[in-house]
Amino acid sequence: MISVEEALKIVLANLPVRKPEVVSFRDALGRVPAEDLQATCDIPPFNRSSMDGYAVRAADIKSTPIQLELVGEIRAGGNSKGTVCQGQAMAIMTGGAVPAGADAVQNLEQTERSLDGRFVTLLRTVSPGENIVCAGFEAALGEIVIGAGHVIGPAEIAIMATFGYKEVRVWKRPSVAVMATGDELVEVDQTPLDGQIRNSNGYSLCGQLGLLGLDPHYLGIGRDNKDDLRTRILQGLEQDVLILSGGVSTGKYDFVKEVFEELGFSVLFSKVAMKPGKPTVFARKGDKLIFGLPGNPVATFVAFENFVRPALGRLCGLAKPELPRVHGRLLREMIQTPGRTAYLPAWVWWEGSGWKVDPLHWKGSADIVGFAKANATVTFPHDRSRIGEGETVEAMLLPDFFARRR
Ligand code: AMP
Ligand code: MG
Repeated sequence: MISVEEALKIVLANLPVRKPEVVSFRDALGRVPAEDLQATCDIPPFNRSSMDGYAVRAADIKSTPIQLELVGEIRAGGNSKGTVCQGQAMAIMTGGAVPAGADAVQNLEQTERSLDGRFVTLLRTVSPGENIVCAGFEAALGEIVIGAGHVIGPAEIAIMATFGYKEVRVWKRPSVAVMATGDELVEVDQTPLDGQIRNSNGYSLCGQLGLLGLDPHYLGIGRDNKDDLRTRILQGLEQDVLILSGGVSTGKYDFVKEVFEELGFSVLFSKVAMKPGKPTVFARKGDKLIFGLPGNPVATFVAFENFVRPALGRLCGLAKPELPRVHGRLLREMIQTPGRTAYLPAWVWWEGSGWKVDPLHWKGSADIVGFAKANATVTFPHDRSRIGEGETVEAMLLPDFFARRR
């Protein structure tokens, strides 16, 4: 049995080479650029007024009030023809280009215009540069404005629009297939008979993939016999990555691992010292990857977040796709048999000057109803048997942490 850290290392060392593709900037939300994007011009492209007011020469206004001759008006988008000479001012709107000769803009509220509109009186002095954003102040031509490897959010979409990037080279997303396995499983629209349950893992996995921006191919339920498993796994291998749940432990009808090997896959690990999630299998053949996750619903979920997310996130180009970890104060004592690192449901929140970690009642790795009350998992180190109230613990924030409410 290997540690979680060793298992993750193996996964990350076995990822295929990423491929780039070009997409429209409008479709790039959540994607990761494969190259740096540079400013294609200065921003602002001209000296821009940040106020509605009057463009003036600061040196003209030694004392106030002072009357200046009005020699024009510049609207946003209007041109800045003309020069402000000594004793003169030009009306200017926010976003307007500051005219030649002027070196400051006085806010409209600090001025009074004469009734005939020929003069303006400044009621306060103004310093050189005041209310002017110089050309290139926000970004200079050639500056890197979006770094490769950083996820594209709405602000990056705005940056691409600003600099005229209609298209962007991003990392291709892997295609992913999902299947459940188990003779006991029926689909959501069926009524389980004696000994049967509805398949839930197939759908939680699709949801976890959805939160990563991936649109999985759902393959349904594979039965606990080699022929059916082989047929469906081969179907799944039409995609880059196959994720399945169940059939990976030591039961008489757990054939999944054998089928991987019969299909020429190398099983790189099949047991991880974690709880839940011990019988997690990772297999590779060339560029194809398979994750065989344990069947218990919470184990499926936790194993996905620990291994599948980092793998798929990196394939999508993310430098750090792991879920964020925080350290906080444990509100209740926790006890376990040492040997495996446990990831147990918890409710975590920020209070005062630190994180608080409230471990939830643990009914076991099948209890998806209990797990749904969590917004994080608290990590119980493998070499500890007790963590006391008030001790500092690590928690892993679940992917929809900010959407969850207690
Ligand atoms: P297995 O790993 O196949 O031995 O399954 C372990 C436990 O998880 C069993 O109680 C299964 O019935 C349950 N299980 C397996 N697959 C699913 C699934 N897709 N949805 C819900 N429960 C499952
Ligand atoms: Mg099974």
